[in-house]
Amino acid sequence: MLAGEAPPTPMPLATSLIAGRRVAGAGLRLPVMNPALGVEIAGLAEAGPAEVNDAVVAARHAFRTSGWPQASVEHRQAMLLKLSDAVFAAADELAQLECAALGVVMRELRERHMKRAALNFRFFAEVIGQARGEVYDQTHGYRSIVVREPVGVAALIAPWNAPVALASMKIAAALAFGNACVLKPSEQTPLALLRMVEILHEAGLPDGLVNLVNGRGAVTGQALVSHPDVDLISFTGGTATGRAIASEAGRRLKPVTMELGGKSANVIFASADLERALDAALVGIYSNNGQQCLAGSRILLERSIAHDFIDRFVARARAIRVGDPLNDRTELGPMASSAHRDRVLGFAEGARREGAELLTGGHAVPVGGAHSNGYFIAPTAILSPSPDILAVREEIFGPFASFMIFDTYDEAIELANATDFGLVAYVWSDHVPTVERAVRDLRAGVVWVNTPMMRELRAPFGGYKDSGLGREGGEACMQFYTEVKTVTWPSTPVNVKKIGTG
Ligand code: NDP
Repeated sequence: MLAGEAPPTPMPLATSLIAGRRVAGAGLRLPVMNPALGVEIAGLAEAGPAEVNDAVVAARHAFRTSGWPQASVEHRQAMLLKLSDAVFAAADELAQLECAALGVVMRELRERHMKRAALNFRFFAEVIGQARGEVYDQTHGYRSIVVREPVGVAALIAPWNAPVALASMKIAAALAFGNACVLKPSEQTPLALLRMVEILHEAGLPDGLVNLVNGRGAVTGQALVSHPDVDLISFTGGTATGRAIASEAGRRLKPVTMELGGKSANVIFASADLERALDAALVGIYSNNGQQCLAGSRILLERSIAHDFIDRFVARARAIRVGDPLNDRTELGPMASSAHRDRVLGFAEGARREGAELLTGGHAVPVGGAHSNGYFIAPTAILSPSPDILAVREEIFGPFASFMIFDTYDEAIELANATDFGLVAYVWSDHVPTVERAVRDLRAGVVWVNTPMMRELRAPFGGYKDSGLGREGGEACMQFYTEVKTVTWPSTPVNVKKIGTG
């Protein structure tokens, strides 16, 4: 260092957070990259089995001693509302951190992700205020009631595409129903979630109820899901990982929810409001940098409208502003990692080889200046002659639309259902009987009619087929995060048959 020169600022380190304190441990140090700049911006201190064990022990201790599971509903509601306000107040700081490691545009992070995160805590405060019970008194002389109790320690595993928005729902639900938890973010995006968990503590959350362990899935995640003192596992991520975790949980008979991948059909009939359908098709595949489980990635068009629709879609896709996610004018930021960028572009090349027409994109986009090493790609679209090519079958998880054309209603539904996934489906038509039939025939956990994604938190969310197991939502989370206990007593003292009286 030269005389008079300021000392270099040390790079931030994403540690774990156990019993309210940051813990770095002696594990591997991994780089956290900024995908818009292509540079390392932070380090990550990987939690090994020892730190994971400490986190589970801290959660169990808080579950046993903090009084949280036994606290009144009013007390839990007041705390959840405080947490909601704290997340809302920190929305800008959290969005900056999320943007730095994820590259989704700031506007979307501020307006969608962080608002949603704050709302998650408020939502579950409301849900527990409305909980109802069951009473059975049909058996003469007896009354049975069903009570719900917190389960214990939940392992929460979050993906990288919307870390704060998705993990906050799991944390809020686990807490609302009286549990303690250990969260594992994706190793790619640890920054905003670590800060969020810290903010929850600053807002008054008792230590140990929410712990966070950072590190790779195969190391930290594996240690967490196989820990013998974890009572339940809530996972959001890819289908292959989901299968591995579900088998581990099955071996130990632990309940799981699995929110997995998607390859959702967006079925557009000639009877649709095509202007709206076009706007929604673009948002459905290119928002969140195209990296979202519920993307409408297979766009199915009725032949009479297909040519014109595709032309207009392609013109709009080419006009999407790709670049710095911090700039409020930007519409598409970088892919989350260089490996992911290469994977997405590989699908365009593969599709061409398999006979699809590349309509637009399929290449990297040079964004100059400080962003010249960022992982930017052009919004991409292909027209596929069949549902069998890899780009139409696999979840690409990028700004990549696959068009297919149908002639009849039956063909539309067959194409829509010709997938291993079944997370959501979109249908566009102003012809009510067509909509009614499609809603019945589409094999997906959620069907959105004449609207882009509209997540109703009260309703169950989750997938058919390889898209998941179990559901998230108000009632669905109550069932997952609580144990049921049936209590039976007589309305008048019973005459118990006497045995052993000689
Ligand atoms: P992954 O399945 O690769 O990872 C998800 C999480 O699991 C990460 O935190 C990962 O850690 C961790 N993990 C990986 N291996 C293990 C293991 N053996 N044990 C425990 N944890 C492990 O998914 P992505 O992060 O790549 O997320 C993208 C996927 O998530 C897409 O398929 C997408 O569709 C799906 N998704 C589903 C949603 C839904 O609601 N249905 C919503 C959003 C995304 P690490 O990354 O550090 O390796």
